[in-house]
Amino acid sequence: MPATVETDVAIIGAGPVGLFAVFECGMLRMRCAVVDALDAIGGQCTALYPEKPIFDIPAHPQIGAAELIERLERQAAPFTPIYLLGRRVESLRAEGGGFVLGTTAGDAIRCKAVVIAAGAGAFGPNRPPLAGLEEFEASGAVRYLVTRREDFRGKRVVIAGGGDSAVDWALSLKQVAARVTVVHRRPKFRAAPESAAQLEAAAARGELDLAIPYQLQALEGERGRLSFVVLATLKGETKRVEADHLLAFFGLSMDLGPIARWGLALERHHVRVDPATCETSLPGVYAIGDVATYPGKLKLILQGFSEAAMAAHAMYPRVFPGQALHFEYSTSKGVPLASAPGG
Ligand code: FAD
Repeated sequence: MPATVETDVAIIGAGPVGLFAVFECGMLRMRCAVVDALDAIGGQCTALYPEKPIFDIPAHPQIGAAELIERLERQAAPFTPIYLLGRRVESLRAEGGGFVLGTTAGDAIRCKAVVIAAGAGAFGPNRPPLAGLEEFEASGAVRYLVTRREDFRGKRVVIAGGGDSAVDWALSLKQVAARVTVVHRRPKFRAAPESAAQLEAAAARGELDLAIPYQLQALEGERGRLSFVVLATLKGETKRVEADHLLAFFGLSMDLGPIARWGLALERHHVRVDPATCETSLPGVYAIGDVATYPGKLKLILQGFSEAAMAAHAMYPRVFPGQALHFEYSTSKGVPLASAPGG
């Protein structure tokens, strides 16, 4: 059923950064509606790596991605956000000093300010150009994300890629897989230096294999069942690695979708913002998290959290014109803990 929603702030995207924006807006008494194209909240954390540990969330030496989302939802809950899931925001138009958003489900969301927390937009994996790939994708032998680590218990896994995903999953899966081989075409990994060092140390101890500098050349197997991944160097030397699964981590292709048509200033598939306020080129429309760009931007959850706070403060005068904002720290006075579901 299409909904008509009146709110102070409409947040596009229920990833970690969109969820924290609910909290930051709530602390300033701004009500939020959150729309997401996916059926579940959590963005990349839920859709791409729910079981991966995250090590760079302040005060959490380690936290699973799914647990981080569950905690962010709990933190936002006292401010009773309206979640509209399984629908994409298609249109944005200015009206009466505010905005109206239209969704694929026919909803109309009227608001005073908009926060775009759309991450990588409608994201999808970059797929390797290999013959017969579709058959192995359909059987689950070739994958681009890990939703359940247990799927790989006792399996021979080839991991292709040189970034954080490849390195982190190699370190994690070596604990359950029969054998892990990491294929990378360059001698140096693009992952966090500490993780890359751990990977090299694990390889030196014989806990996994590194195939460097190799790239994927072919898949061998029958009826979707993978037997070997064939690797080749640029000089044409080849080797065959026994495998039940290929995990290809070549990054996400970014597609802003409808957001690219709203007349916002863009920079290489990202929305350009003023780093002091996170306001886009359209006054009253803010962008935070992975979708936003400015000099020095880091695509990290913690930086998105800070942007959520900056955007909330910057939009306050638009939501409450003429009302002075007296900055306060979070205390039980500011957070309606008593109304939090489950305490
Ligand atoms: P996202 O998580 O991408 O969420 C955006 C949401 O917006 C999505 O749910 C999408 O469906 C929705 N959306 C997009 N367009 C629309 C639309 N038009 N209408 C409605 N909904 C829309 N970061 C770290 O800090 N530490 C890590 O250890 C770490 N590990 C990572 C491991 C992997 C494998 C990957 C892929 C990423 C990792 N990251 C890590 C990056 C981190 O996940 C992102 O920085 C973070 O998810 C960005 O959050 P976000 O809320 O901006 O966007």
